[in-house]
Amino acid sequence: MVILNQIGEARTALLELIEQSDNIVAFTGAGISTECGVPDFRSKDSPWMRYKPIEFNLFLSDVLMREEAWRRKFALDDIYSMAQPGRGHYALANLVQQGKISAIITQNIDNLHQMSGVDDEHIIELHGNGTYATCLSCGLRHELANVRHDFETTGAAPECRSCGGPVKSATISFGQSMPEEAMQRAHDVTRACDLFLAIGSSLVVYPAAAFPLLAAQNNARLVILNGEATPLDSEADLILRGDIGDILEPFSS
Ligand SMILES: [Zn+2]
Repeated sequence: MVILNQIGEARTALLELIEQSDNIVAFTGAGISTECGVPDFRSKDSPWMRYKPIEFNLFLSDVLMREEAWRRKFALDDIYSMAQPGRGHYALANLVQQGKISAIITQNIDNLHQMSGVDDEHIIELHGNGTYATCLSCGLRHELANVRHDFETTGAAPECRSCGGPVKSATISFGQSMPEEAMQRAHDVTRACDLFLAIGSSLVVYPAAAFPLLAAQNNARLVILNGEATPLDSEADLILRGDIGDILEPFSS
């Protein structure tokens, strides 16, 4: 394990590994989006932490909780809906376009990888996506602008326009099971890669943090790019410690 915190060295070492690799998987967490105006979900002052999270079972069983969840959701959207992709997102988009990166596995729900120009087929969202909603009964997609208009007009928790089922932001809530298809895809691409770049994740949330470990056990090189130490640092071939946007900036054009 080599720790580089001098930016020039970090970039050179990363470039070398990227050039040697044919099949890279990137794994991203909140740290890649902090320069984009998206608050880190787990940070102390995060607006998400102001209230006790509403667990999935309560959302399902209690209409008042559903209304409260939607009130909070739209209040948060007002804070971060103007977020735009950052240097890290564009760097990864560029590497996808070059055919270097086969998949981006993300813990983020902010849609910024898509907004940086990456197709859905290259993105695996472990915690869902906060920029649209789905019906929990039939799965039909609902656009937030319509949901919000109806909610603010009637004050009632939104129901599916097709089947009447409860509509929820397309994110994975506390107490909700992980999305099976995304987990399976993430597993498959991780096993196939020769370089795994974990970027901006504290690597403490399981099962998501199991992927870098799986890559390392499968003889892929593991690089961890994060502002702080992570519990998986001892498994990494290379640790780049510093500002994510600064380190990845040269790769973004
Ligand atoms: Zn429905």
